[in-house]
Amino acid sequence: MRILILGGTSEASALIAALAGTMHEVTLSLAGRTTAPKTGSVRTRIGGFGGAEGLAAWMREDGTDLLIDATHPFAARICVSAAEAARAAGIPILAIRRPPWIRESGDRWTEVDTVEDSVAALGEAPRRVFVTVGRLELAAFAAAPQHDYVVRTIEPVGDALPVPRLTTIAARGPFAATEEERFMREAGIAVLVTKNSGGDATYAKITAARALGMPVVIVRQPLKPEVARVADVAGAMAWVAHDLTKRRESSHAPLPSPAEGEG
Ligand code: NAP
Repeated sequence: MRILILGGTSEASALIAALAGTMHEVTLSLAGRTTAPKTGSVRTRIGGFGGAEGLAAWMREDGTDLLIDATHPFAARICVSAAEAARAAGIPILAIRRPPWIRESGDRWTEVDTVEDSVAALGEAPRRVFVTVGRLELAAFAAAPQHDYVVRTIEPVGDALPVPRLTTIAARGPFAATEEERFMREAGIAVLVTKNSGGDATYAKITAARALGMPVVIVRQPLKPEVARVADVAGAMAWVAHDLTKRRESSHAPLPSPAEGEG
C-alpha cells in the first residue's frame, strides 16, 4: 500500500521504522516547524497542504491507499483536515491517539483547557515557572510578566516571549526523571506548566514534580474527530496488517452471479 503518515511525533518516527521492513511505500509529511527534523531515509514532504481540500488532492494525485494521522495530541487543525480529506477522497484513515497522562496519588495538578488558561492559573503573585508547552504558544505568558520564566523548547525561543525575567533552555526529549528532578530543584522552580501530551518521552517532568511535591498546571488534550484509532505503534502495525488482509480478500472475492444482480 502507499501510506501517507502525518508526523512530527515520536510515534511517527517509530511507525516509519516499523514499516521499513515491509513492502509498503511510505511518505512522511511534516509541517516544517523544526529546522532539523529526524526523518530517516523515508520519502518526506514538508509544509502544509492548504487545508483538507489540498490534502485530499495531494492523496488522489499520489495514489495514497491509507492515511495515518500520527500527529501530536495538541495538533488539532491537521486532524480535522485529515478526517475531512480522507472522507472526501474515499481513502481509509487511521489515527494514533496517544492517551493522556492520568493523575496519580501525590500529583498536585490544576487542569485547564488552553495555554491561555494556564497563564491565568498561575495567579497574581510572582513565581518561578518552568514552561514546557512548546515555542509556538509561548506568547500567551507575556500577559503575566510578573513571573520569572524558565522555558524549555526544541527550537530557540527568539523573541517569542517578551518578559523581563526569562531563562531559555534548548533541548529535545526524552528526559530522565532523576535529571528532571535535580534540574527543577537546582533551578528553584515553584510550578511546572505543561500540556498533557501523554507518552513516555516527556513524562519524566511529571514524575519529578510528584517527587518534589510541586504544583503542575496541565493543559487537557483537545477533542479530535472520530476516526478509526489505535493508542500506539504496535496497534497501528496490527491495524495495517489487518487492513491489507481485508483488501486482498475483497480483491479475490468472487463476482456476483448474474442472477444476484437481477433480483
Ligand atoms: P495544527 O495546528 O494542527 O496544524 C496547523 C497547520 O499546519 C495545518 O492546518 C496544516 O496546514 C499544517 N500541518 C500540521 N501538521 C502537518 C503535517 N504533519 N504535515 C503537513 N502539514 C501539517 O498543528 P501544530 O500544532 O501547529 O503542529 C504542527 C506539527 O508539529 C504537527 O505535525 C505536530 O505533529 C507537531 N507537533 C506539535 C506539537 C504541539 O504541541 N502542537 C508538539 C509536538 C509536535 P494546512 O492546513 O495548510 O495543510
